[in-house]
Amino acid sequence: TTGLMAGKRGLIMGLANDKSIAWGIAKALSDAGAELAFSYQGEALKKRVEPLAASLGTPLLFECDVASEESLDTLFAGIKDAWGTVDFVVHAIGFSDKNELRGRYVDTSRGNFTMTMDISVYSFTAVCARAAALMPNGGALLTLTYYGAEQVMPHYNVMGVAKAALEASVKYIAEDLGKIGIRCNAISAGPIKTLAASGIGDFRYIMKWNELNSPLRRNVTQEEVGKAALYLCSDLGSGTTGENLHVDAGYHVVGMKAVDAPDI
Ligand code: NAD
Repeated sequence: TTGLMAGKRGLIMGLANDKSIAWGIAKALSDAGAELAFSYQGEALKKRVEPLAASLGTPLLFECDVASEESLDTLFAGIKDAWGTVDFVVHAIGFSDKNELRGRYVDTSRGNFTMTMDISVYSFTAVCARAAALMPNGGALLTLTYYGAEQVMPHYNVMGVAKAALEASVKYIAEDLGKIGIRCNAISAGPIKTLAASGIGDFRYIMKWNELNSPLRRNVTQEEVGKAALYLCSDLGSGTTGENLHVDAGYHVVGMKAVDAPDI
């Protein structure tokens, strides 16, 4: 893949640490020759993100809280100042109150519903509008979703409803921006142990279940999500938009517990 992203510049949003899906994606795109910028949430994450980013050369670093229009404006003004244009943007951001990522969906509070939708869904739309203004020659937009959007998964609750809305927004954005050469896609990743995932109730059980029941009989890695992101953000994906690419060891096609899977 060396050289596949040569001459391409892109922003990766949602790097928290070396377990982040954003990190797997950053490494794959950087290895293929892309020049990167990162945005992270809050000064507290800076000391973790800075050395990681530095290990990939000298990427640009921006603080950005996607709940704030002003913060998003500042981020994209910074990208415009530094680069003028951008070729791809990866949105690897989601958030909900972890007290509501257990128990019943039906008990979701109005406040957390609104906040979850704002940070996990609207922020991608807000990012895409700003990114498109810096993509005069086309580009690629990418977000991360989960199977809990399509089928009920234990404890995923309001985040499942948010991911369903995120997946729908990917299709609308693909149509809006397709005419100006911008593609918009999602990767539906299988469960991966990250900071965000640790907030989900019984996450270890969910991982074990996927490992025992997915067609590949294992879980996926950040690196595998990175490879799929490279496809969607590079010219390899030039004919693909509005897509939800499952990188989940095939779990989404399974309708029944595997015959060889023990009870867990
Ligand atoms: P992570 O904790 O490493 O990343 C989540 C990121 O969201 C963090 O960097 C956090 O700072 C950022 N974030 C939250 N609120 C923000 C805000 N207001 N402004 C800016 N940034 C904010 O976890 P991850 O698992 O790598 O999550 C990345 C994406 O992948 C999320 O959309 C998640 O839903 C999705 N995803 C994760 C899994 C999994 O099993 N880990 C599976 C499928 C999809």
